[in-house]
Amino acid sequence: MEISLQPVAPEQRKTPPPDDQLVFGKIFSDHMFRMDYGEGRWHNPRVVPYGTLEMDPAAMVLHYGQGIFEGLKAYRCADGRIHLFRPLKNMERFNRSARRMCMPEVDVQFHLEAIETLIRLDAAWIPHSVGASLYIRPTMIASEPHLGVRPALEYIHYVITGPVGAYYPEGFNPIKIYVSDQYVRAVRGGVGEAKTMANYAASLYAAEQAKKKGYTQVLWLDAVERRYVEEVGTMNIFFRIDDELVTPPLSGSILPGVTRESVIDLARHWGITVKERPITIDEVIDRIASGDLKEIFGSGTAAVISPVGEVFYKERSYVVQDGKVGEWSRRFHDEIVGIQYGERDDPFGWVHQVKP
Ligand SMILES: *Cc1c(COP(=O)(O)O)cnc(C)c1O
Repeated sequence: MEISLQPVAPEQRKTPPPDDQLVFGKIFSDHMFRMDYGEGRWHNPRVVPYGTLEMDPAAMVLHYGQGIFEGLKAYRCADGRIHLFRPLKNMERFNRSARRMCMPEVDVQFHLEAIETLIRLDAAWIPHSVGASLYIRPTMIASEPHLGVRPALEYIHYVITGPVGAYYPEGFNPIKIYVSDQYVRAVRGGVGEAKTMANYAASLYAAEQAKKKGYTQVLWLDAVERRYVEEVGTMNIFFRIDDELVTPPLSGSILPGVTRESVIDLARHWGITVKERPITIDEVIDRIASGDLKEIFGSGTAAVISPVGEVFYKERSYVVQDGKVGEWSRRFHDEIVGIQYGERDDPFGWVHQVKP
C-alpha cells in the first residue's frame, strides 16, 4: 500500500515549544497518520494535517470500548540522527492486543513505515535535548455505527505524535506508592495483558484515592487472592532482593512491557540473576523490614525507570532505600537512556535508525 501525503503548508505549521516547556500529552505535531478498515481490508493510508476525527455517535468504540493503543518514542541523538527503541516490539504487541479484542491486525513492517513517514515529515517536532523526545501514540478504534455487542466491521487506525519533556525535570526522584487491596486492575483471563482502553478506565478510581492520600501511583495486586504483586500504575515492577532482580511473571493480567524485557535482558547481560516469579505483598513488606529488599522500581516507556521510595499498605507506610534512588535503578535508567540517544553501545541491536 502506498501512503499518500497531504502536508500542511509551510506557513501554516505550528512552532514547537522550547524543550524546557514541554508537558506530557498536551501538544501535538502538525500531522497524523490514518487509514481505514472495511470490507475485510485496510485502505487509504495517508499522512494528513492533525485534526479531529468525524465519527458517528453510534461508533462501537464509544459504547463497547473496542479500542487499543501503543506508546513509543523517537529520540534525537547529538549528531541529529533519529532513533526508535525496539519499535517492532510495539507493533507486535499492538497486534496481540488487536487479536485479544477481535480487531484486525496491521502488518508490522507497514505500521513501522507509516510511523517513519509521519515522523520524517514532523522531524522539526523531535526535541534536541537528552531526556526530551517525540511521543508516538498508535491507536485503533471500532468506528462502525452499530448498537449491539459484537466485533465491529469497520475500524480507524491512526498515529498521533507530540513532543514530551524529560520525565524528571527536577532530577531522578523516587515516587510514593499506595497498595490497593480493595480495587484491582485486571484479572487473569481478562484483558490486562492487552493495551486496551478499558484497563485505564478501570484504574482511575483507585488512582484517585491514592492521590488523595498523597501517593503518586497504585501498586496493583492480583485480583483473586489480593496477595501477589502485579504492576505499579502503568509500569511493570522490579525488586532488588539481596543481589537478585525479581519481577512478577507474565501471568495474563500483566502488560508485557518493552522496558521490562529490556531491563531483564540487560540484567542478565551484566551477570545479575533475574527471577520471574510470583512475589506476595507480605514478602515485600517482610523483606523491607529485614533489609533484604534494597530497591523497588517501575519500568515503562514514559519514565524508563521510576524508583520507589515509599510503600503504603494496610494503613502503614514503609520506606525503601531511605527514600533515595538506588544504585541499580540509576544504572538501568542511565544505560537504557544512553542506548536510546546513541550515547552508549547497543550490544543487542535495540536501536532502529529512522532514515532521513
Ligand atoms: C504500557 C504499559 C506498561 C509499560 O510498557 P512499556 O512497553 O515498557 O512502555 C506497563 N504496564 C501497563 C499497564 C502499560 O499500559
